[in-house]
Amino acid sequence: MKLLQDLSYSQIKLLVEEAGFPSYRAEQINAVRISNREYSASSNLPKKVAEYFSASYATPACTIAETVSGKDGAEKYLFAMRDGNVVEGVFMPHSYGNTLCISTQVGCRMGCVFCASGLNGLKRNLTCGEMLSEVCAVNALKGGSASRRAVTNIVLMGSGEPLDNFENVVRFLREINDEKGLNISLRNVSLSTSGLAGRIRELADTGLNVVLSVSLHAPTDEKRSAIMPVNRSNPISVLMAAADYYFEKTGRRVIFEYAVGEHNCGISDARELARLLRGKNAHVNLINLNYVRERGMRGLKADNVKAFAEELKKRGIGCTVRRSMGQDIEGACGQLRIKYMKEHDLDAMSGGDGGTDE
Ligand code: SAH
Ligand code: SF4
Repeated sequence: MKLLQDLSYSQIKLLVEEAGFPSYRAEQINAVRISNREYSASSNLPKKVAEYFSASYATPACTIAETVSGKDGAEKYLFAMRDGNVVEGVFMPHSYGNTLCISTQVGCRMGCVFCASGLNGLKRNLTCGEMLSEVCAVNALKGGSASRRAVTNIVLMGSGEPLDNFENVVRFLREINDEKGLNISLRNVSLSTSGLAGRIRELADTGLNVVLSVSLHAPTDEKRSAIMPVNRSNPISVLMAAADYYFEKTGRRVIFEYAVGEHNCGISDARELARLLRGKNAHVNLINLNYVRERGMRGLKADNVKAFAEELKKRGIGCTVRRSMGQDIEGACGQLRIKYMKEHDLDAMSGGDGGTDE
């Protein structure tokens, strides 16, 4: 069945008109969409209208199946889709607002060797409505509404490669920005990519101007290709040119993510990284590599992460050591899902197509 949350407000309006219902019913159906509820939870919706919509459009697209709270106020969720697939999200309260990290795909096919999300390949893309439902579910859980949002910032950093699900992600960005959607400013939205250069350019051309994070994680092609297969077809020079284009087009400084571990923390790595970014309006987010049992790669002692940051700063590169929130609640992306699948004896492998060179 189709999903109500895959419809835009204007599509809902059209359906209401076609069915001959009064036009204000569109507002009520839209309220069901944004509050992540079932039709029956709406007290002012006549049965006839509810039945008309529920015959073709299911809602909500996802519900929160599990919540794990961290010491730092972070909360991790497992979102259950209607077909039984689960993805993760993390809520992080900050002084400036509340950030929600959401997933864009069930699994991922990019095959980065340090990441838990890609362990079983890609199962399927999430639709625009499923991503919207992740946000609306947490907004409702935290007592927010369409007009008074409890989720103010969104990062696309859960499982999945957002630019590998380009059309749905772009539609989702438009919906959260729409005033009949969640009316969230796209300045408060970050998209993280493993580096699909062509798609970065396409994203720049949409004019959506979200904050772009590029997962760099290594300063040379040799090192990057060894941990991120995507680099074989999108080498660093091509990726950097796309990042430059993104900055020129949008005026937004690009963030480079660097998960640091034994394999990429040497002085020569700092030197190469500085050379790569010198003169660019860029910023490095350093994060200590999260240990994923199935992957076996380890991060550094906190002091050594700081030391690497100093090496970059010495060379004129702006850099922040990012606190990995929710470390005590199955930190790295994808880990909670894997655990859940094992506990529930679910087959994470089915439908996966493994890593890819795309
Ligand atoms: N697919 C996108 C967005 C989701 S991953 C991307 O790769 O950018 C979000 C971030 O978590 C990326 O920067 C990714 O490289 C990073 N990441 C994945 N596994 C990690 C790990 N074990 N430790 C630290 N960061 C990790
Ligand atoms: Fe996919 Fe990102 Fe994980 Fe790489 S780091 S496997 S692109 S989710």
